[in-house]
Amino acid sequence: MGQQPSLDEVYRRLGDGDGQAAASVILKLRGETCDIDCLYCYEKRKEAPGGARITAGQVRQLAAMFQGRPVSVELHGGEPLSAGRDHVGAVLRELAAQPSVIGVSLQTNGVQLDEQWLDMFDEIYPGLQIGISLDGDPAGNSWRVGYDASPVYPRVVAALRLLASRGRQAGVITAVTPAVLGRAGEILDHLAAFSAVSAVSLVPCFDSAVRNPTAARMARVPASRRLQQAAIDSAHGPAWAILPGEYADFVLAATIRWISAGYFRHLKLEPAVSVIRRLRGLDTSFCHFSDLKCDHVFTLYPDGRIGSCDELPWPQARLTALGDDAGEEVIRSAQRDSALLAEGRKLMGKCAGCSYRTSCGGGCVATRWRQHRAGDDDSYCSYRMRMIDGIAALLAAPGAPAGAWCATTRWRPRSPNSMQDVAAFTARWDEGHASLPARLAVSAHGNINAAGLPGIRQADDLHPGDPQWDEAIEQGVRPLVDAVTAGWGLITYDSCQGHAYQGTGLPPAERRVGLLPRDRAEYAATAAALCRAVSRAGPAMPRQVRPLLGRAELRCEATGRAFPVLDLALRPADGDWQGYFAALDQATAVLAAALRADGAKPGQPCACVPQHAGEAGS
Ligand code: SF4
Ligand code: SF4
Repeated sequence: MGQQPSLDEVYRRLGDGDGQAAASVILKLRGETCDIDCLYCYEKRKEAPGGARITAGQVRQLAAMFQGRPVSVELHGGEPLSAGRDHVGAVLRELAAQPSVIGVSLQTNGVQLDEQWLDMFDEIYPGLQIGISLDGDPAGNSWRVGYDASPVYPRVVAALRLLASRGRQAGVITAVTPAVLGRAGEILDHLAAFSAVSAVSLVPCFDSAVRNPTAARMARVPASRRLQQAAIDSAHGPAWAILPGEYADFVLAATIRWISAGYFRHLKLEPAVSVIRRLRGLDTSFCHFSDLKCDHVFTLYPDGRIGSCDELPWPQARLTALGDDAGEEVIRSAQRDSALLAEGRKLMGKCAGCSYRTSCGGGCVATRWRQHRAGDDDSYCSYRMRMIDGIAALLAAPGAPAGAWCATTRWRPRSPNSMQDVAAFTARWDEGHASLPARLAVSAHGNINAAGLPGIRQADDLHPGDPQWDEAIEQGVRPLVDAVTAGWGLITYDSCQGHAYQGTGLPPAERRVGLLPRDRAEYAATAAALCRAVSRAGPAMPRQVRPLLGRAELRCEATGRAFPVLDLALRPADGDWQGYFAALDQATAVLAAALRADGAKPGQPCACVPQHAGEAGS
């Protein structure tokens, strides 16, 4: 593991050192006002006054406030189009005139979208990106209704067809609620069938803590609010809420369909794409996966109030208001004074020491804040890890979707983890040709490597056909190496018998074997077989030792290519290294026997798969 990052690196502040990163600004064009009345609407739950509209003048003031920092703008609501054509046109004209505005998107329910709106967008802001809210098929859209409680689904479908007829594309935001759970595949099929849909973003309804219906300020309570009241159970929360684990399963099932149906060729699926980018060491603009979080997100309301991200609770998210003296320094000072942002940022401290940090990016601060308040930090992290583990399995072996449901094999990147020339090594292994004489020296602690020194050191790569093979393998790990090489016919790229390193100041090293599958099919079969072996070994394992399976990548120094690898390690169960080393040989014998009893045969499921048969089949 590299050095632990600082809090400033996992959550970057606005200002010096952020490289003038773009600010993301949400314009609540008409506050909470909307022409439909979805039961789960979080904007209306804020119960802020609606009705007024953000003006073009306010947009000018806002851009000036950021003093040249690039700004990416989202027109949002309520329903932004309910501000009226002329008004939205004036705002778009102002945005088009601002050099610091690098992009504008519109998030709409699609109900009003017609030819005239699209003509106007084409004329004033042709690059406007359109996002439509649609929760999959008619049943999935059960919570999206008008004030008369009638479904809006048919009107949204008409908007998507109109967009297609104009050669326009749109991203769809799909709320994941119980109305779609267990049907990820068919929901994705449904959305992918609209030719206008180029992206699907799956958004969880983690609303279990909601206990009260939204206040209705109208003289007559509309039918939609009566539906909402009936859907909220004051003891268990609303009927549209899901749990983090359910969301992880849904995302994994959707990703499986995205890959198997070939949708990945023309449809961007979030959060799958962001996870994949992070697993590959790439950046993403999605704040849930990035170090640019709520300090770089702002919301402007029609009365001039400026808050941080609209996902954060109001009024605690309030920062400042539009005014002549409001510049970026004023915003930064308001951010520093914000108890809510400080609390959110503090939660990110946990990420600095988390082995998933580089793939997870810390998630959504607002959701974590709510989970934290509910005394449940763990289920959020569990869902993030579950989703990353599953997508890492799919990335390594996309043709073997069952691997995504393995809860035993986790994403555990190793650093450094490289080999001089992976293809040449596997060819030598399979052809059995002897390598150049290897430099083998033994340290006082039993390490066998080129220098004969303790710690992580360079070691020449050998294979079973080499005359020096026997000499090169540390004896304590030999039973595991033999079981997977001679027994299963696999390639090992690394092994270590474990070292206590007493009196050296070095941290103890665990016993482990690294496996380098020849191809994706062998990877999938090996991962499943390792899971079965670990499960079989479990009851007989000494309590001081815990087997651990990891997915990682081995970098080829010659080509720069990353190869998916699997690591089998034995860890101290409770940090007691003395007890661990005392029980290690016994644990090794138990695990080696379990490995010998199985084999990396293609097509056999891992020990976890049956638990997820329902979602896996969707
Ligand atoms: S899993 Fe939890 S602690 Fe780890 S990086 Fe993600 S949010 Fe942070
Ligand atoms: S509250 Fe969540 S969605 Fe909003 S900026 Fe922060 S991390 Fe992103």
